[in-house]
Amino acid sequence: MAIGVFDLFKVGIGPSSSHTVGPMRAAAVFVEELRTEGCLDRVASIKVDLYGSLAATGRGHGTMTAVLLGLEGYYPDLILPEEVESRLAVMAESGSIQLAGTKPLSYAVDDMILHPLTVLDRHTNGMKFAVSDEAGELLHEATFYSVGGGFIVREGEEDAALQELDETHRGLPLPFRTAAELLKHCSDRGLRFSEVMLINELDTLKADGVQRSEEEVRAGLKHIWSVMEGCVESSLHREGLLPGGLKVRRRAPDWHDRLLKEDKDRDPKYWQEWVNLIALAVNEENASGGRVVTAPTNGAAGIIPAVLYYALNYAPGMENASQEDKDDVVVRFLLAAGAVGVLYKEQASISGAEVGCQGEVGSASSMAAAGLAEVMGGSPAQVENAAEIAMEHNLGLTCDPIGGLVQVPCIERNAIAAAKAINATKMALWGDGEHRVSLDEVIVTMRETGKDMSNKYKETAMGGLAVNVVEC
Ligand code: SF4
Repeated sequence: MAIGVFDLFKVGIGPSSSHTVGPMRAAAVFVEELRTEGCLDRVASIKVDLYGSLAATGRGHGTMTAVLLGLEGYYPDLILPEEVESRLAVMAESGSIQLAGTKPLSYAVDDMILHPLTVLDRHTNGMKFAVSDEAGELLHEATFYSVGGGFIVREGEEDAALQELDETHRGLPLPFRTAAELLKHCSDRGLRFSEVMLINELDTLKADGVQRSEEEVRAGLKHIWSVMEGCVESSLHREGLLPGGLKVRRRAPDWHDRLLKEDKDRDPKYWQEWVNLIALAVNEENASGGRVVTAPTNGAAGIIPAVLYYALNYAPGMENASQEDKDDVVVRFLLAAGAVGVLYKEQASISGAEVGCQGEVGSASSMAAAGLAEVMGGSPAQVENAAEIAMEHNLGLTCDPIGGLVQVPCIERNAIAAAKAINATKMALWGDGEHRVSLDEVIVTMRETGKDMSNKYKETAMGGLAVNVVEC
């Protein structure tokens, strides 16, 4: 399947798309394979090995518990946050899981085998699952990689997946892998980024082989925005410390109360405070395992909602916008942001474990800048310029979360990156689209910088803030 807007914006749970959402999905897929292979009833024991970054920061990112839930057959987009809490409590008490939701099996977090210093060939986020029968005979095994943004790859199927991606990509009406190709479609046909993405989206088959209508795409994107809004709403009502032992206090509820008092008339001079609030709220909810939209990852999930909030409330001309106009802004923003997200997936990476935080927060900031420039009337060249500026000034950003938790620096970093995206858009819109560094050049630079970056700074919590700040 070609990468579509709903691959980049997926409903899931916190705190990490690569370390929570991906592993849960991998475990659930493995369990489905047990059913298909007809060996589920004979399973007597299970072995799970976690490698590289998953092993190094898995505890702080909820990887192990996500795997347990996946082994019970839960998928991250369907499980409710309340279900997560209740199932994990039952598992912790009983020391067992219900494999595929039906078969009791003695297995707990501490049974997982961790290999933090071993990186499998394909990707640093590797997982191996194996099940045996009563006699200890191997029934089925599989290796998966969580490659960022909740995407997983099964070992042995990489070539087939790449081939399928290539075929569907070539079959798209307006295929693009680079910003140059995207801009060419725009200039050849007089289209905007969002329109190119929409045309391709209408031609993309769903997993069940059904094609989406324009109405379905619009409804799907409005739903994505409603989940983002619901995430903020839920966060504003949860006070106290975030889980994990770092004693990070939730700030969003207090900030919200203060803003409601200080900014009763919605004075535009407070735009920055509201944008900060939205980013903090989303990322605090993510850090506590709540329902979020990967955009394009969980660690960077607050940037796009915060900038879209700015577009809906502070962009010129929105003062008296109708609901229909607002819906249109949501749809066009997410499609344009999604088009830029495709470029990062195709040419570089959105995985912090692969290229550092520049791939997560940098990509999200760049996507958000593109979305904002699009709905503020930028030409395709200006939209590309906005995306380029936002990434250029996130290059080299390392991933060094304290305690392996998606809290510090992640939460504040989303607010800072949202502001960067808004500034990048303003700069691009004051220009004429002509600029010295192209978006493609900056994406390739991000990829190369990520390759050169020490593993200490790629979601291993072995360098930077993670070792220089005392956890207490
Ligand atoms: S530092 Fe960046 S890449 Fe690393 S966990 Fe935090 S948000 Fe994700």
